[in-house]
Amino acid sequence: MAETMRALVVARYGGRLELADRPVPHPGPGEVLVRVRASGLCGTDVHLLSGRMPLGELPRILGHETAGDVVELGPAAAGWAVGDRVIVAIDVVCGQCRHCLGGHTQRCKAMRRIGFERDGGHAEYVAVPALNLIRLPEGLGYEAAAILPDAVACMYHSLICQGQVRPDQTVLILGAGGLGIHGVQVARWVGAAVIATSRRAERLRMAEQHGAIPVNPATQSLADAVMEHTRGEGVDVVVDTVGTRASVREALSLLCPGGKLLVVAYVDETFEVPAIPLFKPEREIIGCRGASKQDLVEVVQLTAAGQLAPVIGARYSLEEAATAAERLAAGDVVGRIVLTRE
Ligand SMILES: [Zn+2]
Ligand SMILES: [Zn+2]
Repeated sequence: MAETMRALVVARYGGRLELADRPVPHPGPGEVLVRVRASGLCGTDVHLLSGRMPLGELPRILGHETAGDVVELGPAAAGWAVGDRVIVAIDVVCGQCRHCLGGHTQRCKAMRRIGFERDGGHAEYVAVPALNLIRLPEGLGYEAAAILPDAVACMYHSLICQGQVRPDQTVLILGAGGLGIHGVQVARWVGAAVIATSRRAERLRMAEQHGAIPVNPATQSLADAVMEHTRGEGVDVVVDTVGTRASVREALSLLCPGGKLLVVAYVDETFEVPAIPLFKPEREIIGCRGASKQDLVEVVQLTAAGQLAPVIGARYSLEEAATAAERLAAGDVVGRIVLTRE
């Protein structure tokens, strides 16, 4: 095996995603080396460049949506063999705290995330704990698999675990982008009615194809559409992937009594909540972050069974990552961007 590899790194905050030569990592105790076949490019990767979320020691290799093949086992890495096709769960957790023991690995306070606090998958190889691997079923390709750990599993975790969506409910997805389009799919899989918003016609078309009622808030009143489709009640669950003060305020005003606002994104650091519309109708505001490993296991199974269909909007090589990041920032891609390896 080669000693060096190409990788996308943050070399300094405020710069660009840079392609650099880095040493091929050696899998430590309990770790495996994965040859990456596809990695998802996430809006968070672009945020991480800014330095608003510290990455620890730089340069850091980004990439938290990874699929590939096991090529080497470190000491005491049991249960896997060279050649196994795998997906990598993002959170490296302690496995012993009450959150981990309760299955809520996404709440572990000792968490170090792949592609954040430790090197990630926008590279030719990545060393990860064997505990983070999930077997890739036959028939599920690397590219679709790569975007499951974040773009799809996050929506599954938000709607199923945090939102506890049921078939008789109506869900509003604010922002039918790379996250939101998968939220539409998860809510429809449950059997809920779905309203999805975007200001981009092609995103609305895609949301409609997946069973959502499309609303363009630039040309029609979202409040009117919501009331029309819920007999004046409001929606049971809002998934806010926009994360601004205005979106939170609007989302709260569109909830039925007892409705839940799922806050998935973060753009503004704070938001204001009008008190009476919150407590009197017993509405809830619920934070949602990432997914547990079990959520990812379930998402992999649902995708392999054809119940969920990861939406890939564009493919680029590692070398083209800067162009890919520009397209991501421009917001003109429907679905997620995947960085493929030859
Ligand atoms: Zn992400
Ligand atoms: Zn833990």
